Amino acid sequence: MVLLGSGAREHALAWKLTQDGARVHVLPGNAGIPGSVPGISTTDFPAIQQFCQKHEVKLIVVGPEAPLAAGVADYFADTDVRVFGPRKAAAVLESSKVWSKGFMRRHGVATGRSWTFRSDQLDQARATAAEYGGEVVLKYDGLAAGKGVWVCSSVAEFDQALQEMQALNPAGHDWYSFLVEEKLTGPEISIIGITDGKTMRLLAPSQDHKQLYAGDLGPNTGGMGAYCPVPFADDNVLASIREAIIEPTLSGLRTEGLPFLGFLYFGIMLTPAGPKLLEYNVRLGDPEAQVLLASLGNSLLELIQATLSGRLADVGVRQKQGAFVGVVLASGGYPAAQFPTGFAIEGVEAVSPGTLVFQGGTKRNEAGQLVTSGGRVLTVVAHGHDLELAVEHAYAEVKKITFQDAYYRTDIGQRPTPQLV
Ligand code: AMP
Repeated sequence: MVLLGSGAREHALAWKLTQDGARVHVLPGNAGIPGSVPGISTTDFPAIQQFCQKHEVKLIVVGPEAPLAAGVADYFADTDVRVFGPRKAAAVLESSKVWSKGFMRRHGVATGRSWTFRSDQLDQARATAAEYGGEVVLKYDGLAAGKGVWVCSSVAEFDQALQEMQALNPAGHDWYSFLVEEKLTGPEISIIGITDGKTMRLLAPSQDHKQLYAGDLGPNTGGMGAYCPVPFADDNVLASIREAIIEPTLSGLRTEGLPFLGFLYFGIMLTPAGPKLLEYNVRLGDPEAQVLLASLGNSLLELIQATLSGRLADVGVRQKQGAFVGVVLASGGYPAAQFPTGFAIEGVEAVSPGTLVFQGGTKRNEAGQLVTSGGRVLTVVAHGHDLELAVEHAYAEVKKITFQDAYYRTDIGQRPTPQLV
């Protein structure tokens, strides 16, 4: 099969699928992922097609959102190559926040209140934010690599956020839309499922750690670590999420004729008024994938094949016992636009058996040495009989891997247990 992507998430996918018996070519992959084929971009569909023909590949699994939003599933629709991932029309659940809010509203998916504006309506947006004392969230409509969301606590902060959004406009459009959302409170969880459009098989509930610094402080990043399962996401919580969010989503996709095959990710806040959906992603999260795939007790390949043939209802998901913690080692200076890279990475081979090291921002230099090449360099995933032991184990292993200016959060998987009301 072909796997599209180049991060630690794709390393985890390649590792799991290889264990399941698949022969995996990763386009473009990276220095640490066996089977990587550098030089073919995830959105160069003709080149991917040529590769598939040459290597007699009949299945493409998609890691990141960009090829899905660009229509990889549509491109191959009339060929003999199957794509595990949604069509462009369904990928818009992630690529447009305004569209996905409209979808949630049309189908009664539990979510916070929100108002949509165009970029020439800043005054109206300001007036709405002021009604809430500035306690709102501003969201740019479009893919912005995690940078298009501002959680505000005052009108002054909202004004600042508006300015930053205008400066950002990452897609460079003449005009654009944005959302102002009611600010919700409560613990967040990531619920990720595999769906064939009829059945949804959930992986373990997980939690990401988006901010750069311990205590959930500092700028947002792509994610500095994750763990699963989440002890407080018990059967009652999961049942209420199914009823309020997952079932209405599946029936909405069917009603609107949007075929969805693949991973569907629900970013959820457990508010005092029940679970509310913050966002959809149409793929696995990174770093959630690294812990979820480590914890998956049965074959992902079988789940994918069952999804593609509409038989997902016949296959269950089995979780391994215990807890899994993934700590991201990042380059010093990340997530700024620029930071030094090219530093030698030592100790990857020194980790204990059973510990997994998934590489993201790495490459081999001319001397063949493994060096840093990106912001989130690698994710160390460890297992323990419970969360506390998994945390202890993960940090003991993280300390074995070194490179200049390496940075990691010291509190992954250690948030205080929330009181759910
Ligand atoms: P999103 O990309 O929409 O998931 O937003 C990124 C992050 O912003 C989320 O993980 C939350 O921490 C925060 N956030 C988004 N929407 C809200 C909201 N309505 N209320 C409070 N926090 C939010």
